Amino acid sequence: MLEIRDLQVFYGGIHALRGITLRVPRGSLVTLIGANGAGKSTTLRAVTGLVRPRSGSIRLEGQEIGSWPTHAIVRRGVALVPEGRRVFANLTVQENLVMGAYTQPEPSMAELFERVYRLFPRLSERRHQKAGTLSGGEQQMLAVGRALMSRPRLLCLDEPSLGLAPILAREVMEALASIHREGTTVLLVEQNARMALSMAEYAYVLETGRIVLEGPGPVLLENPQVRRAYLGER
Ligand code: ATP
Repeated sequence: MLEIRDLQVFYGGIHALRGITLRVPRGSLVTLIGANGAGKSTTLRAVTGLVRPRSGSIRLEGQEIGSWPTHAIVRRGVALVPEGRRVFANLTVQENLVMGAYTQPEPSMAELFERVYRLFPRLSERRHQKAGTLSGGEQQMLAVGRALMSRPRLLCLDEPSLGLAPILAREVMEALASIHREGTTVLLVEQNARMALSMAEYAYVLETGRIVLEGPGPVLLENPQVRRAYLGER
């Protein structure tokens, strides 16, 4: 589905990605983990056209998209749930969802709402509530729901569990697992390495703009280096 090769990204003089190579096969759930500043968000921004790579290749279903504008990438079936759940605070839950569906024909709307409300019953109960009055966890659910309204084939998420109480983080992750089971390919960036590795088929560990380790999620979960650096063990 997605293939990144030797990707280099600079922000002015800052060399944020120093040659990233990774694959997200169709139907898979792949995670990127790593410390603050490792380049996880930058990788997602490059995939969604929000930063321009200096060099390297980003292929979506075989097509080079590294120089495409974001709207063209969205139309090809990629959605991003950005860090910090930027929902439209003054719009209701339902209006936020409509904003996510701008690429979709009108008749499919009801079915799309139904899917989001089935995955997140809390949003269904609050559909006429202003998004700004939702709790942090509910706003995160809305951010994921809004991304689903574009019927993505590749769903990219930037730290969806950040700042959430453990029980809500689990609820969001369980919804992601369902979305993945229903056939959407998922690229998940997470700081909560334990949760991400336990659900990912394949995982990459980033350190200062490079991939330093990769493997099936459950295998990395047992890796002593990962356990020490990311799971708080000695
Ligand atoms: P975090 O978990 O803290 O979001 P991350 O792994 O997602 O970290 P990035 O946000 O991708 O890391 O940042 C990678 C590097 O690029 C960091 O050194 C960061 O300071 C730098 N960087 C990110 N965005 C910009 C920007 N807009 N301008 C300048 N430097 C940036």
